[in-house]
Amino acid sequence: MSRVLIIGAGGVSTVTVKKCARLPEFFAEIYLASRTLSKCEALQQECGLDRIKGVFAVDADDAKQVADLIRKVEPKLVINLALPYQDLPIMDACLETGVDYLDTANYEPKDVAKFEYSWQWAYHERFQEKGIMALLGSGFDPGVTNVYTAYAAKHHFDEIHYLDIVDCNGGDHGQAFATNFNPEINIREITQRGRYWENGEWKETDPISVRQDIDYQNIGVRASYLLFHEELESLVKHFPTLKRARFWMTFGEAYLTHLRVLESVGMTSIEPVEFQGQKIVPLEFLKAVLPNPGSLAEGYTGQTCIGTYITGIKDGKEKTIFIYNNCDHAVCNAEVGAQAVSYTTGVPAMIGAALMLNGTWKKAGVWNMEQFDPDPFMELLNQHGLPWHLIECDSPFAK
Ligand code: NDP
Repeated sequence: MSRVLIIGAGGVSTVTVKKCARLPEFFAEIYLASRTLSKCEALQQECGLDRIKGVFAVDADDAKQVADLIRKVEPKLVINLALPYQDLPIMDACLETGVDYLDTANYEPKDVAKFEYSWQWAYHERFQEKGIMALLGSGFDPGVTNVYTAYAAKHHFDEIHYLDIVDCNGGDHGQAFATNFNPEINIREITQRGRYWENGEWKETDPISVRQDIDYQNIGVRASYLLFHEELESLVKHFPTLKRARFWMTFGEAYLTHLRVLESVGMTSIEPVEFQGQKIVPLEFLKAVLPNPGSLAEGYTGQTCIGTYITGIKDGKEKTIFIYNNCDHAVCNAEVGAQAVSYTTGVPAMIGAALMLNGTWKKAGVWNMEQFDPDPFMELLNQHGLPWHLIECDSPFAK
């Protein structure tokens, strides 16, 4: 019996829910819960009452509420597509009820803009003892980028040395300023100090201060900036031969100008301020006035290109490969009514869940994506809308 409970009904969840609904062979029964019941009901209407068997309002910050809901639904797996703040309460609820867990982003405390795996890795022994599994970061980056790295290490190298993950959105949504996934989480991520791994230690940079122009397949040359991204933490742990691991994301000039202005006037701060007799967090207020990422899909043109450059040794010789996917915003909109950033996250969440449910990726404990055989995941990417390409090339990065 493959009954799943999906928590969250935003941009990413919309894609996962619709994809799961079309695959009854993996997902026999789908239940959906989120903070705002009406969003769950709207998705249920779209997918059909026969596919989404039940919808619920839940506050996933409250582990007890989640555990009560799990007892009521009795799912085999909880797919967490709410926000990173809810990871730990949902994991607590899974532990209490003995149910498997999957998410797409690592835990982040609400009052500190800091994300790292330590909090979730600390659940490993307890998940093992309970005989249940947690799969962390089953989105695109993290997620597919981890699987690409594992695939390269398995099939193309004896040892991998240099990893550069590149994330380009070459699309145009026609808005002056908007983020492609939850604005609060997105802005917290990119305004942090940059960080990368080199020669056994983390090195820090000022936020968005290191730039390299990279030529992206089917898009062209785009300014790309070094950021810290969570998959670097697990990848350097699980591939200790890596001498350097970095993450790059593209930003246009207009986006950066808006961001600088918003930052300089304090609108990206997570420190509460007094406003008309109540405390508000400027970044939460900013989220309320920015376009909802889910609403960007209509009229969004262009493509994303996300991939991993990996340099290493095979049979005594050094080589570089690039594994990547192009995803077209308009094609995603036509298929599921979503833009490519939601799509590239929502589809891998569905694939990770499918592999857990059919027992292909199954072991007790808390795991990152690269700790499993990448081949079945790579095969399903090709089948479910995220085909990948692999080329041998010169590295665009200096050593
Ligand atoms: P959205 O803001 O669109 O959706 C989040 C959903 O979670 C909303 O439905 C929201 O409810 C719900 N939610 C928030 N708080 C609670 C709560 N306390 N209890 C129950 N439900 C809650 O975000 P996205 O869909 O853009 O992102 C979803 C996740 O995907 C995030 O964790 C994000 O970091 C991650 N992500 C991962 C990527 C990857 O490649 N790995 C890329 C992009 C995103 P409401 O509708 O009431 O606000």
